[in-house]
Amino acid sequence: MPYQKFIANRQINIPYMVKIGYGKIGRIGKYLVDKGMSNVGLFWSDGLEEVIGGKLYKGFEQNDIEIVCNKIVQYINIEEVDKVAFNLPHNTDAILGIGGGKVIDFAKYCAHLLKKPYISVPTSISNDSFCSPNTSLLVDGRRTNVKSSIPFGVVIDLDIISKSPKMFVYSGMGDMISKATALWDWKVAYRKGYVGYNDFAAMLAYNSLDMILSMPQYDLGSSEFLRNLSTSLLLSGVSMEIAGTSRPASGAEHLISQSLDNIVKRPHLHGLQVGVSTYLCALLQNNPSIDKIRRFLLNSGFFEYMASDPLPKEQYIQAVRHAPLLKKDYYTVLSEKEIFLKAVHLVETETILKRVIQ
Ligand SMILES: [Zn+2]
Repeated sequence: MPYQKFIANRQINIPYMVKIGYGKIGRIGKYLVDKGMSNVGLFWSDGLEEVIGGKLYKGFEQNDIEIVCNKIVQYINIEEVDKVAFNLPHNTDAILGIGGGKVIDFAKYCAHLLKKPYISVPTSISNDSFCSPNTSLLVDGRRTNVKSSIPFGVVIDLDIISKSPKMFVYSGMGDMISKATALWDWKVAYRKGYVGYNDFAAMLAYNSLDMILSMPQYDLGSSEFLRNLSTSLLLSGVSMEIAGTSRPASGAEHLISQSLDNIVKRPHLHGLQVGVSTYLCALLQNNPSIDKIRRFLLNSGFFEYMASDPLPKEQYIQAVRHAPLLKKDYYTVLSEKEIFLKAVHLVETETILKRVIQ
């Protein structure tokens, strides 16, 4: 199908409230008042309210913020989100999702349905969904990507992020590095005439990647690293909004991860699967950034972490075989002839891949 070659006057949204730093939870009340919002619907990950609710509520009290709905999110089936969204009081000014991936997606989709501002408050930075225009929800029992809206606000409290388990940070790094292979797939798909290309979105995604890759060292606990990683993931989400497609942030490596989710009983975190698959796809692509990608994943300890809990080889190979079938008419490096055999050969023989896929 021919794609639309020139898009003019498409409305692009950006987050209007971006707060990254220490002690931010206690200041959310102030940020809301500054934007003229006083009635909020809150959605939490289980167990989190007990830990950080005190600080949040104190800030709410000081700024006269009313809580019109307060819920813990456990299920993310789309019918449940629909039901909860349409039962929210009409005077709700903003919806806040506080916690991990599920609640971020649940609250984001709720706000999208009601066309209300959504404020994303991730407590880990394990992937770019806290600021992307997409959600991953259960549709007919399967995790499915559902179009949503980019958040109005993002608040990242580094006090909380720095205490989250390392595994989440590695996952965020894996999701971030995937821009290198996703952008290659996008450019080649464009050159072959399959899709349109947006220079600005691509530039933003490349720059967000460079922000991380060009750091002289990767100290995962340092505020500089966490701030850069948060900002990079945030810009990656914005690049998808600008492009009007997930192309700048998702290519073959994401297809493999999605395919693996369908096959294995206990999937690893999204960004861990994506990070390993980025390395494989970069080798298959002869990606010009392959040396930087390898250096980043080696020096940051990502590969070492994955070697301690490797991806299962048999299922991984199966996932690579099925990955190109997940999206129709969607060019990635996996669409190339005989690429599957090359991928299997690499998984069997390449020194690093042999350690992280067993
Ligand atoms: Zn991702």
